[in-house]
Amino acid sequence: MRIFKCNSCDYGSVSSKYTCPACRTGKLEVEEVSPKGMVFSFTDIHIAPAEFADIAPYTIALIQLDDADVKVTARMDGPVQIGDEVNLDKIDGGAFLYTKI
Ligand SMILES: [Zn+2]
Repeated sequence: MRIFKCNSCDYGSVSSKYTCPACRTGKLEVEEVSPKGMVFSFTDIHIAPAEFADIAPYTIALIQLDDADVKVTARMDGPVQIGDEVNLDKIDGGAFLYTKI
């Protein structure tokens, strides 16, 4: 998956920004890394926004990638626990859908 890493500090993100929000001087450069990671935290969504009401309840997890110091917010295909190994299933309309390994 594509991430954006700062060329002057350790900041990394899955979303592109004009300049680094951490050091404010660095430029973000594209890097390809494995989407595999570990569940850092998660929350179950019971009351969903209208566009997701038909799939509620569902789980949103914050995933720490294995290969980069970057966390990804993703929708899970089922329940997870902190520490679970997960991998990218697909990207749907800009949203990351992850699945347990
Ligand atoms: Zn920076």
